Amino acid sequence: MKTTRSKQLFAEAQRYIPGGVNSPVRAFRSVGGQPLFIKRAKGSRLYDVDGNSFIDYVLSWGPMILGHAPPSVIKAIARAADDGTSYGAPTELEVRLAQMITEAIPSIEQVRLVSSGTEAVMSAIRLARAYTKRDQIIKFEGCYHGHSDYLLAKAGSGLATLGIPDSPGVPADFTRHTLTAPFNDIRTAQQLIQEHHRNLACIIVEPIAGNMGVVPPGEDFLPTLRTLTQAHGILLIFDEVITGFRVHYGGAQALYRVTPDLTCLGKIIGGGLPVGAYGGKREIMRMVAPEGPVYQAGTLSGNPLAVTAGIETLTRLRARGFYENLDQRAAELAKGLGAAAKKAGVPLTQTRVGSMLGAFFTKGPVVDYASAKQSNTQAYAKFFHNMLNKGIYFAPSQFEAAFLSTAHTDADIKKTIAAAQAVMKSL
Ligand SMILES: *Cc1c(COP(=O)(O)O)cnc(C)c1O
Repeated sequence: MKTTRSKQLFAEAQRYIPGGVNSPVRAFRSVGGQPLFIKRAKGSRLYDVDGNSFIDYVLSWGPMILGHAPPSVIKAIARAADDGTSYGAPTELEVRLAQMITEAIPSIEQVRLVSSGTEAVMSAIRLARAYTKRDQIIKFEGCYHGHSDYLLAKAGSGLATLGIPDSPGVPADFTRHTLTAPFNDIRTAQQLIQEHHRNLACIIVEPIAGNMGVVPPGEDFLPTLRTLTQAHGILLIFDEVITGFRVHYGGAQALYRVTPDLTCLGKIIGGGLPVGAYGGKREIMRMVAPEGPVYQAGTLSGNPLAVTAGIETLTRLRARGFYENLDQRAAELAKGLGAAAKKAGVPLTQTRVGSMLGAFFTKGPVVDYASAKQSNTQAYAKFFHNMLNKGIYFAPSQFEAAFLSTAHTDADIKKTIAAAQAVMKSL
């Protein structure tokens, strides 16, 4: 594979940008080698600056559920851009997207739009603390909730592979209020609640962990969290930045029928433009400024281009059979990858919820961060590079999800499975 231009650009990028990238996992550090610079993308494909093309299973880390540059979304963005790109004043578009979100996710009676998932989570936790008048929070090991200070404790994603347990620059005073428990471990959560409930504002969880690879919740995990929090006046926050509109039009909460107090969204609701959102019960949301005293603001919040992309994307997701089709294709891909590993005698533990796929190079089972880390990351790195050489772009880290879009064809999936058959044999 020719990578001359990517290499040149990466060298230049490192002069001007720390590590040459604007988000750490992009740098390929955990799989070795150098990142490819992308020139354009269409449908299921990424095209790099050296003229290589790839079937893409990263999909911008989740947002591109319709594939890249879906014509209806691009047209809508272009039309919106013609009317100006930001006003700093309310628009009808924001009302429509907020309406669509509240109709899709009944636990969200009111929603505030922001510009990233990080911002959504940070604001939701501020609100939970104000509402309960308590300071402490519980998060789960390996769950990633953006990069705000007090959430950089035992987080997954880039931190899983960079080996930064807690980032320098975060005062110990800030994470003092963050308690952590293993994902899927009800007993530890219960002990923490018993001990700290008087000062616990909220429990935040990715209902399907998607930043340590994909780790689904055990059957009782979410319902028990709901019962325990309710009993002690603790808010339950679902971070559905990945899972919202990914696993179901109503998010993971619709899939598992567990209703949180607050929900954080991002990724898909921006259709590939920068957006986040947080929402929940009206009684809680009305504490947000200007209605209430909890301050939260944003110059570009509710940006007309991003909101337009979101509206058009969500509209497409309402098509009959959308999730069933996507799920069926994802199942086929998972089945093919699993069979390829089995035939080659490679131990592989697969996890999947709808079009979110995980594959760990370990006998498993994988139920939490500790068991996810049992995966042979060297085997993953080899798998990643060999697949890349065959034109298949998986995440450059073991601890990320693979995503499918409706732009992926049966031929794409066949090609991916054929490549995996050859690659697994070489491991
Ligand atoms: C991506 C992600 C975030 C952060 O969103 P950004 O838009 O990158 O700030 C938060 N929570 C989860 C679960 C995520 O996957």
